[in-house]
Amino acid sequence: MSVLSCHQREKYVLHDRSMAPYAGGCYPLPGRFRTPSDRHVNRQAARKGIALSPGIARGFAFVIGRHAATPTEGREALEASAEIARFRAALHRTEAGLSRLLGSISTVLADAAGAILGAQQLMLRDPALVTVVEKRIREQSTTAEGALLGVVEELARAIEAVEDPYLRERAGDVRDVGRRILSELEGSVHDEEIPEGAIIVAHELAPSAAATLPGRVAGVVVETGTRASHTAILLRTAGLPAVGAVSDASSTIEPGSPLLVDGISGLVFVAPSVEVEREYERLDRELQQHQALLEDETDLPTVTRDGVEIHLAANLGKSADVEAALRWKADSVGLFRTEFAFGIRDRFPTEDEQAAILTTVAERMSPRPVVFRLLDLGAEKTPLYFPLAATTNPALGLRGTRLLLAYPEVLRTQLRAILRVRADYDASILLPMVGGVEEVRAVRAMLGEELLQLRHRSGLSVPAPHVGAMIEVPSTLLVADELARECDFLSLGTNDLAQYLLAASRDDPEMSSYYHVLHPAVLRGIDQVVRAAAREGKEVNLCGEAAGDPFYTGIFVGLGLRQFSASPRQFGELRHEVRRLDCRRSQSLVRRLLRCSTREEILGLIESEETFS
Ligand code: PEP
Ligand code: MG
Repeated sequence: MSVLSCHQREKYVLHDRSMAPYAGGCYPLPGRFRTPSDRHVNRQAARKGIALSPGIARGFAFVIGRHAATPTEGREALEASAEIARFRAALHRTEAGLSRLLGSISTVLADAAGAILGAQQLMLRDPALVTVVEKRIREQSTTAEGALLGVVEELARAIEAVEDPYLRERAGDVRDVGRRILSELEGSVHDEEIPEGAIIVAHELAPSAAATLPGRVAGVVVETGTRASHTAILLRTAGLPAVGAVSDASSTIEPGSPLLVDGISGLVFVAPSVEVEREYERLDRELQQHQALLEDETDLPTVTRDGVEIHLAANLGKSADVEAALRWKADSVGLFRTEFAFGIRDRFPTEDEQAAILTTVAERMSPRPVVFRLLDLGAEKTPLYFPLAATTNPALGLRGTRLLLAYPEVLRTQLRAILRVRADYDASILLPMVGGVEEVRAVRAMLGEELLQLRHRSGLSVPAPHVGAMIEVPSTLLVADELARECDFLSLGTNDLAQYLLAASRDDPEMSSYYHVLHPAVLRGIDQVVRAAAREGKEVNLCGEAAGDPFYTGIFVGLGLRQFSASPRQFGELRHEVRRLDCRRSQSLVRRLLRCSTREEILGLIESEETFS
């Protein structure tokens, strides 16, 4: 009997030891589903990247934002006047967008935000930006995007070199303006009708852009990306096959080329041969059979062989995701990322709009409980309409709960919307990016005030929602006892926990050999949290991406976790895996894993366990 996943034994995921899950190129699917890559990579060169979202997609390349930072080598000289016209049109739209923003934010944001936007408007007319970009387009036959990126970066660096610390801070504003214009330049392509069967090929895809794609395109290929990035999470939740880290994809894949995207092995075939097509047709059939098998299991209990029950909760980003949660028989919603609904708009949703979205989710899931995570904005999840003061290190800047506490009106609006849902449904609140109990207390105090006001206003006796904290900032590992006491439940966010604990960006493919959930520090941290919660009699949910990967299921069960929150599309594999597990064997393996000093030792031990099972 296997303690861990079939994947590992069948050497699909770990066929290359340097490519452990979440660091390597393959998406974890059972070993029996070998993609044709091994045989055909040599016959027909495939572009190799990282599998971001599983599935096979066929279609035509729709290349967006072709922007080389350097002049466009080897490509036909661009029509300079057309590029300048695009640039001017984008400037115009950026300015109009900023004016709209200035008009709409005053009640929501403090004056400081207005000042930032006003300054940005002035930059749009500054010859140091506008004239220089146009000159570069004309003289270097570069794209508007390439010229803009180059000029913005030079300007920002020049500002960073000055002595005055206040002026130095403005470098971020220059980059922010650049980002706005760039998004308008790309937007001119986004706005076009995306043809049916398109596969998006882009340098980079922001989570807000990714959120608009499901249902419109067949697949995605990007030059950047990792499996733990929010863009990948969104694409996976939507079931859209995607491959990332495909170098130079947007500048070397010709628009309109036929593509086959293998989101399982992380391969992209440009103009695939008949042989490759045939192999993938075989794989499609096998995957469909396997899928049908998993669907047959949805009504079976999620229980280990020795009778330990596992709760499967859904990670959702938008109300439409509820259908997948119901189809795959989620026991609850463990993480509703409210920020995604904010990312696809051009302004803050009102309290009514927020309440409507959340009510749809709670209503469809009822009587199952739903956990709404408060807005987790900041860093790459900052909508353009929410201009934050520039910071040199956004991942360590104001984000999540801390950011909400700095903008109390945004927080209160969201709390009011959730309380309206709570009046009728089992809704809890989860706090992202907390560093310790002080943030929990501050939010609880505001929640108490809003609850009183609501009761007073409506006469309704709305029950107080449960409040939980994300465990994703390393400090929370050390104050887990206090947090468990202060909160009604805890939720382990291994995506950020691994990033911050190991000081390795979850979004940077270059850091993937350092970013690893099986690092001894991460495993020991999880162990501490599970124990702290047990001492206080509180539940711990596991909601990072690793929760949805059956490779880890045995380890997490052995660590004492009983609630897994993942994309519902992963439930089939998870349920299957749980039903193969023997909890006592997992616990015994985990005791040994916790004594390991390195990730290699941990992987070695897992492998030997499999070999002898
Ligand atoms: C996490 O950090 O593990 C998490 C679940 O939150 P997000 O991926 O949204 O940052
Ligand atoms: Mg997180």
